Amino acid sequence: MPTTLLDALRARGLRVTPQRAIILEAIEQLPGHMTAEQIYTHVQQVNGYINLATIYRTLELLLELDLMTEADMRTGATAYALHTHATHHHAVCRSCGRSFEFSHELFEPLTSALRSHYAFVADVDHTVIFGWCQSCTGHSQTAES
Ligand SMILES: [Zn+2]
Ligand SMILES: [Zn+2]
Repeated sequence: MPTTLLDALRARGLRVTPQRAIILEAIEQLPGHMTAEQIYTHVQQVNGYINLATIYRTLELLLELDLMTEADMRTGATAYALHTHATHHHAVCRSCGRSFEFSHELFEPLTSALRSHYAFVADVDHTVIFGWCQSCTGHSQTAES
């Protein structure tokens, strides 16, 4: 059985308040990516007294403890994901905001080259790459209209 966030915090000797326990549970129940607002909406169904600031503080702690990753996709809200969520990256279109996920393998030639040429260990966990999608570059294969 995988350890819960609650166990992970307790294992580090941190005191977990009942409010924080509710937030941790919500994070574990939300699939894949989540914004602070989504966690807030979820938490409100359980305890209406938990505010957004408490959620941000909890997220900051989880990032600090390296239990979560964040990806700023410039959609106005940071996407948080648990580390147990598969390693992947995002490509986001600067023009229309469309995005897709791509696998970590694509980064491996780059990270291994950085390591062997520069002894540099790249932190490419949950990276966001900006660019332009096919329809925004005008290179659509269905060009006729
Ligand atoms: Zn686009
Ligand atoms: Zn992601």
